[in-house]
Amino acid sequence: MPLHSTEAIVIGGHNLAEADRIVVFYTQTGGKVRAVAEGARRIRTRFGGSLQLFTEGRLVYFERPNRTLHKINEFAVTRSHRVLREDLDRLVLASTAVEAVAAGVEEEEAFPDLYILLADALDLLEGAARPALVMQGFFLHLLRLLGYRPELSECVRCRKPVPSNADASLSPGQGGLICPGCQPAVADLFAVSSAALGFLRGASGSTLRIMDRITILPQVLQEVSEILGVFLRHVLGRPLRSADFLASL
Ligand SMILES: [Zn+2]
Repeated sequence: MPLHSTEAIVIGGHNLAEADRIVVFYTQTGGKVRAVAEGARRIRTRFGGSLQLFTEGRLVYFERPNRTLHKINEFAVTRSHRVLREDLDRLVLASTAVEAVAAGVEEEEAFPDLYILLADALDLLEGAARPALVMQGFFLHLLRLLGYRPELSECVRCRKPVPSNADASLSPGQGGLICPGCQPAVADLFAVSSAALGFLRGASGSTLRIMDRITILPQVLQEVSEILGVFLRHVLGRPLRSADFLASL
């Protein structure tokens, strides 16, 4: 069995029969990887409490050729991200982030930029004063990396520039802005305020690290979060459960 060593983040898992546990990792060099932690639920286990959701570390695993379930040899924690599991708001946001990554990729497809985005997002969600803003930046960058960056400067149909004060609408199906002239031809439209459009334009060109410092009214943040939720649902083919949970609070 070939042995692999890679940086990895725990993005899911469930218990198996006996004392074993299946852990889903997002890895830097192998993409989404599922592996068994044998004996992980015994009191004395070499994994200790290391295999918890959001934990980042160096994973060593045996690849079982032609199988999608591998075997964990070792997981050495570098960031436990304990705060993300203990603060309800951050827990919901971080759960949504890992759920979106897990839903957006195929198994074992290496995508190092996506690994870096997720690792940065979890670090920032842990420490940011306004983690909900970091989350909107994460969604925008995730859409871009998955190949669905929303077009936010010109109309996706006629390619005319759309000023931010125009009566613009967005279409997830068409992939971005629709100018007033093209709106009668598009079915899945919803209006976007100039404040929300301005935020989306600024955020899509910004690093995650500065998201926390952007000034935004609560109702605009709410609008942005609904817009990005609709785009993500379109790309992923289903709603994110954690996002529904967040909306119900
Ligand atoms: Zn147009």
